Amino acid sequence: MIAVVKETATQDQLDHFVKWIEGRGFKTNVSQGDNETIVGIIGDTTQIDPFLLESMDIIERVQRVSEPFKKANRKFHPEDTVVDCGHGVKIGGGNFQVIAGPCSVEGKNLFEIARAVKASGATMLRGGAYKPRTSPYSYQGMGERGLDLLVEASAELDMPIVTEVMDPRDVQLFLDKGIDVMQIGARNAQNFPLLREVGKTQVPVLLKRGLSETIDELLMGAEYIMSEGNPNVILCERGIRTFETRTRNTFDVNAIPVLHHLSHLPVVGDPSHATGYTRYVRSAAYAATAAGADGLEIEVHDNPSEAWSDGAQALTPTQFDDAMRRIRLIREAVTAPVEEAE
Ligand code: PEP
Ligand code: MN
Repeated sequence: MIAVVKETATQDQLDHFVKWIEGRGFKTNVSQGDNETIVGIIGDTTQIDPFLLESMDIIERVQRVSEPFKKANRKFHPEDTVVDCGHGVKIGGGNFQVIAGPCSVEGKNLFEIARAVKASGATMLRGGAYKPRTSPYSYQGMGERGLDLLVEASAELDMPIVTEVMDPRDVQLFLDKGIDVMQIGARNAQNFPLLREVGKTQVPVLLKRGLSETIDELLMGAEYIMSEGNPNVILCERGIRTFETRTRNTFDVNAIPVLHHLSHLPVVGDPSHATGYTRYVRSAAYAATAAGADGLEIEVHDNPSEAWSDGAQALTPTQFDDAMRRIRLIREAVTAPVEEAE
């Protein structure tokens, strides 16, 4: 349930109202925007009489919220959330960022790839040190050494890094290393102990949509993180499983405007995992940009045929550079002011 507070209400009246609600066993989430102040009331609000609240001097109106996600819900927090990823890079609320790099950190070629993607306009560097592979016999990642290489590349290029954490026991190591953004992969999208653990930090989390997750389930994953106190969540549409076999996944471009409608969190599109084939990645990247994504995550490798994972979907630095030119044009078209129709 949300209570919209009247513009004329004083801070004292608002504090008193919040205390009164909390005294009845509910949690609250106060969002003070430029235009209105909203109090989100969390708990079994069926016990609250909305007419009683509306009869109070400071309350403008009361609305029931049926969605079970509260902290991620735009109704409670109308303004877009802007997540600060470090190194001066912010995402959301009009800030568009491109995260690029190899699927896995493999060694020193990370630096070559990082320099190339930065020169083409990428603002964040990605690379997996801990890899969630479908087979236990596939390459599992470099582990801690991979994190060290990422940190070194981040310092050299002054770019925030995005890298996947798979195990709640590793979260402290990621904090100690100063990882800028922790990625939760599709296979861990509903690993609730892991979501809670990253939620106990303030480090931005890039939460990928699960392999067969609905949009509401993705938002509930974000809710797990936020309910522990970490508001810095970035959502990622990376394709879902459908009956289609011509691509690795089916890119749900719809999810981008739907997530923006339902939530204030930034939304990133990942055209690499969404398509699985280099030849389709650029088209999907353009579609995500046109759909209003706040950013993209794209896999780039200097020698895709030799990549240790996901070579089939990697762009070469030259292909990435070409893609970035078009992405910039599309982004300009999406954000350009247009005259209102008569
Ligand atoms: C990745 O980003 O390399 C990855 C494994 O992605 P996903 O979890 O979306 O499959
Ligand atoms: Mn990958």
